[in-house]
Amino acid sequence: MLKKVVKWTVLVIATIVLTLASFSSTIFASASKPTPSWGSWDATTITYKTNTSSSYYKSVWKNAVKRWNKVGVVQLKAAKSGEKADITLTSSKSLSTKNGKLAGYTNYSYLKKSNNNEIVSAKSTLNRSLLTKYGYTKNQRTNVATHEIGHALGLSHSADKSSVMYASDRYASIDHQDKVGLQNAYED
Ligand SMILES: [Zn+2]
Repeated sequence: MLKKVVKWTVLVIATIVLTLASFSSTIFASASKPTPSWGSWDATTITYKTNTSSSYYKSVWKNAVKRWNKVGVVQLKAAKSGEKADITLTSSKSLSTKNGKLAGYTNYSYLKKSNNNEIVSAKSTLNRSLLTKYGYTKNQRTNVATHEIGHALGLSHSADKSSVMYASDRYASIDHQDKVGLQNAYED
């Protein structure tokens, strides 16, 4: 539920995108630092809903949810029917890729507070046409889904290619630095 916006908070609505994997990257290998974060939910139990008619994409999202739950910092629970979910997980067949080749993206809103951004809603979308066109395997699509849920949980991009939050990747899954980054985001 959207909290009442009080005087000292600002509701911000934004989007982070994941572009098609680039093979000409000049990013240098860096020491494994914790994945940075931009905010967090106010509780560690977070509800989600998969909003797609495709059983294939339902299963992609479900596998990505399982990966984050295994980390043990937050628990993503399927919202009961009729209940509004915190995070909506969906896919689009007709996503415009004019401004960069988007594999997936996450919209979110948060309350800007003095010491933290409190996430109040998030919606992650997979670009089905691009994933099919560029031959992403199911595991690679699950990696993209895991990346998008990472944003929905408050993680930012990592410059490290072995992080699931690397900005342009289909190959990485959750790495140690991502676990530490999530822990940092949710500790008091
Ligand atoms: Zn991203």
